[in-house]
Amino acid sequence: MKRRSGFVESSIAGMTTESLTPMAEANRLSAMLNLVLKSESERFPVDVKSLALECSKNRFPGDPITKIEGHDLPGFEGMLSPNAARTKWKIVYNDSQRSSGRIRFTLAHEFGHYLLHRNRQDKFMCSDLDMNDWDSNERQIESDADTFASTLLMPLDDFRRQVSGEKISFDLIDHCANRYGVSRTAAALKWIEIAPKRAILLASRDDHLLWARSNKAAYKSGRYFATRKQAIEVPAGSIAHSCRRSESLLQQSASARLWFPAEPEAMPITELIHSSGQYDYTLTLLLMPDAEWRYDTGRMAWQGRQAR
Ligand SMILES: [Zn+2]
Repeated sequence: MKRRSGFVESSIAGMTTESLTPMAEANRLSAMLNLVLKSESERFPVDVKSLALECSKNRFPGDPITKIEGHDLPGFEGMLSPNAARTKWKIVYNDSQRSSGRIRFTLAHEFGHYLLHRNRQDKFMCSDLDMNDWDSNERQIESDADTFASTLLMPLDDFRRQVSGEKISFDLIDHCANRYGVSRTAAALKWIEIAPKRAILLASRDDHLLWARSNKAAYKSGRYFATRKQAIEVPAGSIAHSCRRSESLLQQSASARLWFPAEPEAMPITELIHSSGQYDYTLTLLLMPDAEWRYDTGRMAWQGRQAR
């Protein structure tokens, strides 16, 4: 994108090259883009390809990213690799992937590896497999690259402005997914990160959980699903369950015990689902009020606060 070049060069010239946290690194780029791209339509979605090429060329002229291209990459979403002399880097994304949102996220993820980790590994081959399968070093590196990508593509301040005061729904999530050019799942994961209460996003197929992610409040109160350790079924009373889904019910309020038997009886849960023909899985968002510490049956345990 030519319009950015001049400013990127001068903006980046004064930047130091110390390694920042994934979030700080993404925020630094966002601050620069906010200055350069004044109009809403230019600012989002982020043109990751141009940004990665220009930013690396200006900031790291000794080993920039010089090529970003799509290839057949069976089993992988993306790859970052240097030439033999390590004087230039290439990002390859899987071009059998049809979703432009997933490709944008993959490019941002690989750009994150370049900025944060390129001196730590010879090459990065990235898949969307569950990170629990990896050792802790790999997991940290992949999680950092995801954090960088999510923060770069969906800056928190802008994301908050999009959702503040709005009732949560998959329409709202889709509005964010369109604005930032990311998948519905990536936008929903961002939303649970800033959700004011306990929130869990999960995907299911054939009435079994494929994966689930709890936000901090839910995780800390013990409300998460260990999907890699055991097969977990979708409860029959939930609207994510296939026999109920045919009723086209997209939202319901129920007792939290439907999903979490240890919750107090009065604890409510709101369940929202999205199940379109486009994907072969159902996305479910579970929302619960906060939990609090309570002394219970002789031991400290997390208990849900009564419904408010
Ligand atoms: Zn990766």
